[in-house]
Amino acid sequence: MSQNHSMFDAMLQEFSGAAKRLDLEPSIWEILTKPMRQIIVSCPVQMDDGSVRVFKGFRVQYSMMLGPCKGGIRFHPGVNLDEVTALAAWMTWKCAIAHIPFGGAKGGVVCDPATLSTREIEALTRRYIAEIVDAIGPEKDIPAPDVNTNAQVMAWVMDTYSMHHGRTVTAVVTGKPVELGGSLGRREATGRGVTIITREAAKHLGLDITKATVAIQGFGNVGSVAAALLTELGAKIVAVTDHGGGVHDPDGLDVAALQRHVDEHRTVAGFPHADPLDGAALFDMDVDVLVPAALGNQITAENAPRIKAKIIVEGANGPTTPEAHARLHKRGVFMIPDILANSGGVTASYFEWVQDRYGYFWTEAEVNDRLERKLCEAFTDVLDTSLSFEVDLRAAAYIVAIRRVAGATRMRGLYA
Ligand code: GLU
Repeated sequence: MSQNHSMFDAMLQEFSGAAKRLDLEPSIWEILTKPMRQIIVSCPVQMDDGSVRVFKGFRVQYSMMLGPCKGGIRFHPGVNLDEVTALAAWMTWKCAIAHIPFGGAKGGVVCDPATLSTREIEALTRRYIAEIVDAIGPEKDIPAPDVNTNAQVMAWVMDTYSMHHGRTVTAVVTGKPVELGGSLGRREATGRGVTIITREAAKHLGLDITKATVAIQGFGNVGSVAAALLTELGAKIVAVTDHGGGVHDPDGLDVAALQRHVDEHRTVAGFPHADPLDGAALFDMDVDVLVPAALGNQITAENAPRIKAKIIVEGANGPTTPEAHARLHKRGVFMIPDILANSGGVTASYFEWVQDRYGYFWTEAEVNDRLERKLCEAFTDVLDTSLSFEVDLRAAAYIVAIRRVAGATRMRGLYA
């Protein structure tokens, strides 16, 4: 990940463009551009060889104007306060666009989970949660999975919080295993949302999704599910890259076989039924749809001129720098911003939280139905705003979000 671009500066730049169009008053502008709370913790962990390592962790609660804070936890060597703060701000806007009653937060621990044993990851998760235990809770701040964290990690989060409180509190975290109060459909929800939004965008542009070609960066929880569901719609996934390399097949990759390869080898590289592809070459592909579904700052001013896709659907958070966005938009590329495109995950997290609090669980079809309706509404809200304000979809998404969060801020007023 490029460290040259401050993600929080990128967020501020995107925010400012939209806030200007809204004529946002300076007092609300001031409030909405500052994180409410930033927590930094040190997490000592006994390693398998007996030594002790201290890992740095963050939890940023950006806003609770619309409800409890909400956002994932990522484990990655590149995690830093700037990034976590930007991601927490993006969660704030994302929840507002999805029209769910949450504010925004994000957590991160600086570590490389690929080099840690399962026991070490469990110990690290438990200590990190113990360090922030007073800041989180079903009505305060509800974590979820993000880069390199999964349902098992969320089970440890739930258990650690529950042990501190002397009772089982399932609604403190979402993205849990279904057996422990998780929701059916949550794991697939971000990729499903990316697929729904891609389908709606294609419909709007008059592009036949059943004939569309797609390139995907990342084959994790978002990219792999989007690949499978876009294939179901009839689209052809012609290229996929990940941390280990890439694969390419102009006739369309066999996504199910690719998934089996990744389950075994942890990377798409070496998949025998396709040609190898250099990671950087993904952006040169002559495709209809490009889905960056890996990390931030991937599409930059340097590689943007090479991109040929007609639609870019941001499955990842912050994959496009503001300069790259401006260039691509100018060239007529239909850019669907992260805070809309990947909002399926947190929307299903909201459904999980509701089910936990009710103690009554829905069928997968009910979850998917509600997700479909929520995302189509969000897409329409953003598209209509972009048409009426004559701005691109990213600015429109911010306008929708800022209006809702600013409205709540005005009504609540200042405390003391
Ligand atoms: N980490 C996901 C995101 O960036 C999901 C967050 C959540 O479900 O709270 O949207």
